[in-house]
Amino acid sequence: MFHSEWDKQQFMRNAGCCLFVIIAFFTGIFIWFFIINPGRLYNDCKRNMSRIGATLKIYAADNEGNYPTALNMLNTSGMGTIPSCNSSGHDSYSPSYQYYNNSKDKIHRYTFYCSGYNHSRYIMFENYPQYTSEKGLIAR
Ligand SMILES: [Zn+2]
Repeated sequence: MFHSEWDKQQFMRNAGCCLFVIIAFFTGIFIWFFIINPGRLYNDCKRNMSRIGATLKIYAADNEGNYPTALNMLNTSGMGTIPSCNSSGHDSYSPSYQYYNNSKDKIHRYTFYCSGYNHSRYIMFENYPQYTSEKGLIAR
């Protein structure tokens, strides 16, 4: 196959270089798929939830401290529609929204989270990130 020892060495150098490029390529794919992209999607989700939280605050200010009983009631107050979590591909927030209202003590609280294992490549827990009226965003 090789005409001389030099040819053989040259072939091995090229093969080594080629192998390096292939390994670098797959390392890049791996880092993108398991680290960068899940982190990006998780940040997108947190940004969605912060926007919903801010809109809930505006809603409460306009409604004597009351929060809506469902997130889709926010559509009328300037937000458009509830955004989708890019990781799940749908609105994973509305099903989890819970509103606690004790009119006697004037206590109004809500919680919602990204329901499901939508960010399992980034975080090992189900139903994160979360958002509450007291603590704001809980990303863990
Ligand atoms: Zn999400």
